[in-house]
Amino acid sequence: MRVVFLGTGAALPDPDRCHTSILITLNSGRHFLIDCGHGATRQMMRVNVNPADVRHLLLTHLHHDHVCELPFFVISSWILGRTGALDIRGPVGTKNLVSHLFEGGAFDADIRARAAYPLRQANIEAVRPAVTEYEAGVIFADDDIKVTAAEMDHIPREISPCYGFRIEADGKVVTFSGDTAPCEGIARLSQNADLLIHECTFTEEFIEHRRKSQVGTFAHTSPSDLGRLAVDCGVKHVVATHIGHVDSLSPVLKRAAAKHLPTELMGPHQIDAFVDDIRGTYKGPLQIAHDLMRIDL
Ligand SMILES: [Zn+2]
Ligand SMILES: [Zn+2]
Repeated sequence: MRVVFLGTGAALPDPDRCHTSILITLNSGRHFLIDCGHGATRQMMRVNVNPADVRHLLLTHLHHDHVCELPFFVISSWILGRTGALDIRGPVGTKNLVSHLFEGGAFDADIRARAAYPLRQANIEAVRPAVTEYEAGVIFADDDIKVTAAEMDHIPREISPCYGFRIEADGKVVTFSGDTAPCEGIARLSQNADLLIHECTFTEEFIEHRRKSQVGTFAHTSPSDLGRLAVDCGVKHVVATHIGHVDSLSPVLKRAAAKHLPTELMGPHQIDAFVDDIRGTYKGPLQIAHDLMRIDL
């Protein structure tokens, strides 16, 4: 299978990173999109994948940096010739989100205008995604692939539950954490994974600053904790992603983030800090994700 990181950033707009989205393509050619943050659709075009050919979308949670591209992806796919409905698996709240977007929702006028053309009317199902809300357990399975979800420890589940995925296909296991603090669920999903794609939003320095300044809650995993998880679970290859802008040199981002990040510490050297701290325990293959990075398994 092939894994392409369409977006590797976190919640803020980042000139160097799109929001979180990962495209998994099986040896059979079937595509599975994991999360749909800003930029996902255009990034697919850049890796020569027609968004209309991506028939399955799995959402870890409903934070905007994981779902905000959904209307653009769905409507673009319609215009690009998708036939049939997009299959969406998401946590509780996904039906509500999708029901407000398309016909009768925010993009109703756009869809009615375009549907006036017979060509667009012919594949109108493309703007009627089929949504299944899942809970922990197997959320998708057929002859090619099995996807198991476990609940993560992100922000309180009463507001927005988050799930990680264990994806078994083509004889390999790929685990994706979604957003999470260290928890039992991700340890279970990661056992002996061929590839662990794990969020690692801030370096230790940034975490310490946020702890001292008491800015917001911390619902993420530190590099040291990620290294320990990978060792404990016998993971064969680690990719850290969902990078929280710590490596950015963007002046506007630095100014805008000054209240909640130690912006004087921001810069590309923070990538080395991720590596050093993960390497404190985990010595196997390791990459810090960047947009359009590709891994073949
Ligand atoms: Zn996120
Ligand atoms: Zn989140």
